[in-house]
Amino acid sequence: MTSNHSYLQTSLTYLKGVGPQKSKLLEEELQLRNFGDLLLYFPYKYMDVNALNQISAIRPHVDWVYLKGRVVNMREEGEGFKKRLIVTISDGTGELELVWFQGGQWMKNKIQPNAVYGIFGKITFFNNKPSMNHPEIEVWDGEKEAAMPEMIPLYNTTEKLRRRGLDNKAIGNLTKQVLEKLPNELIEEWFPPSVLKDYELPSRIWATHKIHFPANGQEIFFAQRRFKFEELLLAQLKINKVRVSTQSRMGYRFEHVRDYFNRFFHEILPFELTNAQKRVVREIRQDVNTGTQMNRLVQGDVGSGKTMVALMAMLLAVDNSFQASLMAPTEILARQHYESISELLEPLGLNVVILTGTVKGKERKKVLADIENGAAHIVIGTHALIEDTVRFHQLGLSVIDEQHRFGVSQRAKFWVKSAIPPHVLVMTATPIPRTLAMTFYGDLEVSVIDELPPGRKPIQTVHRTEQYRPQIMQFIKSEIAAGRQVYIVYPLIEESEHLQFESLLLGLEQVKTWFPEERYNVAMVHGRMKPDEKRNNMERFVKGEAHILVATTVIEVGVNVPNASVMIIESAERFGLAQLHQLRGRVGRGSDKSYCFLLTASGISKESAQRMSIMVQSNDGFKIAEEDLKLRGPGDVYGTKQSGALDFQLVDIVEDVELVELTRNLARTILEQDPKLTAEENRGIFNMLKTEENKSQKGGIRWHHIG
Ligand code: ADP
Ligand code: MG
Repeated sequence: MTSNHSYLQTSLTYLKGVGPQKSKLLEEELQLRNFGDLLLYFPYKYMDVNALNQISAIRPHVDWVYLKGRVVNMREEGEGFKKRLIVTISDGTGELELVWFQGGQWMKNKIQPNAVYGIFGKITFFNNKPSMNHPEIEVWDGEKEAAMPEMIPLYNTTEKLRRRGLDNKAIGNLTKQVLEKLPNELIEEWFPPSVLKDYELPSRIWATHKIHFPANGQEIFFAQRRFKFEELLLAQLKINKVRVSTQSRMGYRFEHVRDYFNRFFHEILPFELTNAQKRVVREIRQDVNTGTQMNRLVQGDVGSGKTMVALMAMLLAVDNSFQASLMAPTEILARQHYESISELLEPLGLNVVILTGTVKGKERKKVLADIENGAAHIVIGTHALIEDTVRFHQLGLSVIDEQHRFGVSQRAKFWVKSAIPPHVLVMTATPIPRTLAMTFYGDLEVSVIDELPPGRKPIQTVHRTEQYRPQIMQFIKSEIAAGRQVYIVYPLIEESEHLQFESLLLGLEQVKTWFPEERYNVAMVHGRMKPDEKRNNMERFVKGEAHILVATTVIEVGVNVPNASVMIIESAERFGLAQLHQLRGRVGRGSDKSYCFLLTASGISKESAQRMSIMVQSNDGFKIAEEDLKLRGPGDVYGTKQSGALDFQLVDIVEDVELVELTRNLARTILEQDPKLTAEENRGIFNMLKTEENKSQKGGIRWHHIG
C-alpha cells in the first residue's frame, strides 16, 4: 500500500479468503468494493450469546435466532430435485427441524449424530410449525464458548453469497481483518468537539470499532447513536443549506389585514372555518409579519379544507399590495382551483389568472403581461409558473399545493422570482408523519389541520375480491339511480405505460358492458389524453353529466366533486397506502354517505392484505401514513427514494424521533452561526458536505474521499 489514504480504498481481494470471484460477488450483491465500504457495512442486529434462544420460545414473529442444540435425528426426504436433508435438533426445551434443500449431501457427512452445535438462522413457519432452512452451523465447543464475545454482529447477506461461504460470520471475519490493521488517524473526526461533548457522542474511530464488535449493549447503543447522528446531521445540513443560502432569509412584511381579507372572511366565506383552519391561518399571519421569509408546510388530511387556508393567505398578500401564486401538480387540479377561486373572489373584483401548458398564443401573452405588470393579483397554474419566462411584478406569496411532487429545488425556483424571496406555503394532503416531515422537509415549519369540517360522514371501506364484482356493479347502479356519481380507478403500472393503457381500455370495455351507453354516461381520463380532451371529460363529470369517471391515477390529487359517493379501486393491491387514502379522499366530500371498494385478486400477498385491512379499519390519514412508514420504510413512501434524502442505513425514522429533532435543530444552529461553514471547528463538516456533493446519486455516508 502506497499511503494510508488508499488503505480504505483497497480492493477486497486483498483480504484473506477473498478471491476475484468472491469480490465480484460482494460488489454485485452488496455493493461492497473496498475496505472502506466494508467498514460502513454495519451489522443490522447483534446476537447476545449469553441469551441463547430456546426452541420452546420460538413464535411466528421471531425471525433470526441463535441456539444450541443436540442432533437427535437425521433423514432425507424427496427424490431428485426435491431431495432435502432434514436434521432434528433438541435443546431440552423442544425440537426444531433444520432443512437443507441444497448441499444436503455434504452436510450429511459433516453433521455428527448426537453432537452439539451452535446454530444460527432464520425461522420459517409452515403449517404452524417452525423450521430453519440452510442455517449456519458450527460445532459447539465448550472452551470456545467461554472465550466468545458476548455480542455477535449479524450482517445482512444474500442466498447467493451464503452459497459461496460468505455468510454472516464470514462477513464479520472480513471486517475484523480490516479493523485489525486500520490506522486510527484514517477515520477522521468530522464533528466539532463541542458537538461530541454536548450530545455525548463517541469518537468516530471508537464507534467504527464498536459498531462491528461491541462488548455489550451499551457499546452498541453509543456506536449506533454516533452513526445515526451522522446520517441525520448530514441529511439535515444538506436540506437546511438550501434554506440558509437564500439571501439570509429576508422576507416581505405583510403588516396589514385589510379589506380583501376582511370582506372575504365576513361576507363571502360560505361556512365557518374549523378551529384547526383558524389556528393555521393565525400561524401564517404571524409568520408573514416577522420580516423573514416564511417556509411553512401545511399538512391536512384530504378534505380538511387546505385550499381555504391558502386562499386566506393569498388575500393577505394582496391586502399588502403583493401578488400571490398557487401552483398545483396537474392541469386538472389547477383548473379546478382556478374556477372555484375566481368564482369565490368575483365580488371582490380581484384579477385571478391561470397559467398552464395549455394556455397558448395570444391568451398566454396577455396572462404573462398581466403577471409582469401587476394587473394579475392571483396567479394559479402548474409547473408552467416556474418557467423563466414568467416574471412577476411583485410576488409576495407562493403557495404550492400537494407538494410531494415538488422538491426542494423547485420551491427554491420561486425565490429567484423577486428581489426578496416570497413567502412559501406548501400544502400537502398526504399527511406526513412528523419525523418524516422534519427529515425530508427539515427546512420547513409545520402546521397541521387535524380536524375535518363538520357534517362529514365517514367513508365506509370494504375489501372485496374479483368474484364480488357483480354485486358491486349492482350497488353502483343503485347509487347512480339515487343521483350519485362514481369513480373507477385503475392502477398506474410503472413497468409499462402501454400496459397501463391497455388495462384501462379493457377496463372501460368491461364498464361499458355493465353500464350500457344508452343509459349511462361514462367519462374517461388518463395520462395519454390530449389536455383538451382530458379537460372536457373531467368537466362532464364535475358538472354531473357523466355518471361514472373511469380514470388512472390522474385524479389522485385534489379533485373535488362532492356528489361522487363511490370510489372503486381496481387492483387495489398495486397501490401504496398513501395513494389509496388519497384516492378514497375523492369521495365523502358531500353530505351523503360514501363508499370505497378495494378490489383485488384473491391470492394477494400478506403485506398487501395488511394494507387492505389498514384501509378498511382507518379513515385517519395520519394513522395510515404511520402504518405505511412502518410497512414500507420511508424511502418508498411518497416516492422520495430517488432523492437519496432518506436513504438511511441505521436510522429508523419512526423509532429515532429524538435524534431527528436534535439533528435538525443542530444543523440549523450551525448554519445560522456559520452559513458558509468557514469556521475552523466546522472544517470537518464543510469537507463532509463537499464530499457528499461531489458524490453521485447514491446516498449513505462515505469517508474515504476526505482528506
Ligand atoms: P383539501 O384539504 O383536501 O384540499 P379542500 O380545500 O378541497 O380540501 O376542501 C374540501 C371541501 O370542504 C371543499 O368543498 C371546501 O369548500 C369544503 N370546506 C373547507 N373548509 C370547510 C369548512 N370549514 N366547513 C365546511 N366545508 C369546508
Ligand atoms: Mg386540496
